[in-house]
Amino acid sequence: MKQTIVTLDQVKEIENTFPTPFHIYDEAAIRENARALNEAFSWNKGYREYFAIKATPNPYILKILQEEGCGVDCSSLTELMLSEALGFQKDDIMFSSNVTPVEEYKKASELGAYINLDDYTHIDFLANTAGIPETICCRYNPGGVFELGTDIMDNPGDAKYGFTKEQLIDGYQKLMKLGAKNFGIHAFIASNTVTNEYYPTLAGILFELAVELKEKTGANIRFINLSGGIGIPYTPDKEPNDIKVIGEGVRKKFEEILVPAGLGDVAIFTELGRFMLGPYGQLVTKCIHQKHIYKEYIGVNTCACDLMRPAMYGAYHHITVLGKEDQPCDHKYDITGSLCENNDKFAVDRMLPKIDTGDYLVIHDTGAHGYSMGYNYNGKLKSKELLLKTDGSVQLIRREETPKDYFATFDFSDILKDMKY
Ligand SMILES: *Cc1c(COP(=O)(O)O)cnc(C)c1O
Repeated sequence: MKQTIVTLDQVKEIENTFPTPFHIYDEAAIRENARALNEAFSWNKGYREYFAIKATPNPYILKILQEEGCGVDCSSLTELMLSEALGFQKDDIMFSSNVTPVEEYKKASELGAYINLDDYTHIDFLANTAGIPETICCRYNPGGVFELGTDIMDNPGDAKYGFTKEQLIDGYQKLMKLGAKNFGIHAFIASNTVTNEYYPTLAGILFELAVELKEKTGANIRFINLSGGIGIPYTPDKEPNDIKVIGEGVRKKFEEILVPAGLGDVAIFTELGRFMLGPYGQLVTKCIHQKHIYKEYIGVNTCACDLMRPAMYGAYHHITVLGKEDQPCDHKYDITGSLCENNDKFAVDRMLPKIDTGDYLVIHDTGAHGYSMGYNYNGKLKSKELLLKTDGSVQLIRREETPKDYFATFDFSDILKDMKY
């Protein structure tokens, strides 16, 4: 059974200070998971996790991961600014962007971040703008479909990212001529994989590529970035990944491929987002309406603006009705938000205990790509974020949006000067 971060009594208590809806994160679980990851890769001397900021761009969360030894993976100017403000610098920062504007390369370069080029044409683009740094990374796209056994995991041939192999070989040589001395390789070819085989398989592909690149170009390869893609079990029937088994699987490939090729000092980097935070955040909401037409609807006090994945991908997020954990799931409901969009449903035809108005619902696994994907359609304002700290106290780590925030982009003009907030 999926556990909630807070109980019914705790939510009632929290509501005295911080009314629902809110995302709440579990500090102890975040730390424990980060430690297990670092332990699983401790066999590699240069190992480092660069947390993908886009998953959960909250400075309090980033601080926790920083304390656990993680760096950050950025892909935009604001993510770079956030990292800088928190004291991440130089090799604490991986800049894995695409379709990158000049000012973002300039900022990454100013911070001394690792720049991970997404395309061959960006070599000249970077050379002519921020300049080619001494250490540079290139993103690989193997094309075709990516299979594990008989399962098609993803479709890199249809993805906009990365260099082809020929471009990589050519690109490394070109970068060396332009002054680059040390190289990294990166690839992200399947998302939310719930199998211990993904990382070892990807590692095998990238390690062989590293050997080939070294032979063909003479480049000094310093790190291999396995990027994101380790998933989490959104549905209760799935087995979670075992990070120890994954780390061991990568180690085997390392010993098999890199060590004999004289590349035994290459550092392994990861850029995980979902795996680091997904299960450790939940969206807590309240039933405010019930509607009985052709189906039974439960209306809650949040909407897709706080969690877009169900509306955007039809993604499953488990739901617990607080205080009714032991009651039979004998009612079929659509759980809906308040947008004027029929896809604003956190669950469709979900079997749950009988829900009464005022009941609290916990939507699970919102810790990554949850709050951060939110938007303001229908003029809806995004919820607050709370942190359940290791000492059991609850801290506000982002306030909810206010109408003033929503109208702030008109502050250059006096057209709304008479607005009362
Ligand atoms: C989104 C992203 C990640 C993190 O992906 P997860 O699936 O959350 O692990 C890592 N690297 C890059 C370049 C990304 O775009």
